[in-house]
Amino acid sequence: MEVSIPPGSAGASANAVDVVLRRHLALLLAGVQNGDDGVVARLARSETHRLVGAIRASLRAHRLDPAGCCGACRATRCVLRDEISHALLPVRPAPADGG
Ligand SMILES: [Zn+2]
Repeated sequence: MEVSIPPGSAGASANAVDVVLRRHLALLLAGVQNGDDGVVARLARSETHRLVGAIRASLRAHRLDPAGCCGACRATRCVLRDEISHALLPVRPAPADGG
């Protein structure tokens, strides 16, 4: 999938990138959900490494210090890690302490 980002101010550019990214993800999801097996296999081969790269790039901005504190969130509880964890691992065992 080839995309183009229209020129503009920094804010407008960021918004344009956001729109393009969301559109790309929506098209990818629709293709995987509605495509035949060949389409799904091609999308998986062409897009999985991109998605993994995007998650890794996002996590770089939320690097943990040696104490486990996120540099972006400035806390031991990282909002990005929580969101990614919930998206990738929606069903998890309950914590041993019950809470
Ligand atoms: Zn964080």
